[in-house]
Amino acid sequence: MKSFIFTVLLATCLTSAPVWGQHDAHVHGAAHLDVAVDGAVLSLQLESPLDNLLGFEHEPRNKAERDKVARMAARLRAAEKLFVPTPAAACKLEQSHLASSVLTPELLGERHSEKPAEHGDEEDEEKGHADLEATWEFRCAHPELLRGVEVRLFQGFSGLREIAAQVAAPSGQRGAHLTPAKRMLTW
Ligand SMILES: [Zn+2]
Repeated sequence: MKSFIFTVLLATCLTSAPVWGQHDAHVHGAAHLDVAVDGAVLSLQLESPLDNLLGFEHEPRNKAERDKVARMAARLRAAEKLFVPTPAAACKLEQSHLASSVLTPELLGERHSEKPAEHGDEEDEEKGHADLEATWEFRCAHPELLRGVEVRLFQGFSGLREIAAQVAAPSGQRGAHLTPAKRMLTW
């Protein structure tokens, strides 16, 4: 009986956990990826120190640095090359959104000039650190066949060495630790 109650409590805790977790840690080389499957929509949200993706964490000071930001943004927007969902599910990229406290929306190629999202902790920013937050949405023609996604971010960004991933799928929630050698996220 006791173990039954424990199981019910555990199940309740797992299902009531927030989809987008709170990630405060800023560790160079590491990033967080939240993945959610809701009906036909596969959403991914990456939060990473800018250093992993760009090599610096300040406002660009010259043309070379601005070009670097543009190249990073272009690579992040070509998300079909960064994330490969189960091919049979026929998922297509529908939108992407990039934000950082030290980079303007224009520089990141945002169509709407929104105020950059509030994120990262202020203490980190005072010490010269900054994050990038990226979100992508895929729409799948056969979501019932969606079993996972291969994460190829490591190939495009050598500064990235590990990703703490969190998945919320119809089959439940789970966490995974991804590295260049372990890129498959399955559910
Ligand atoms: Zn940093």
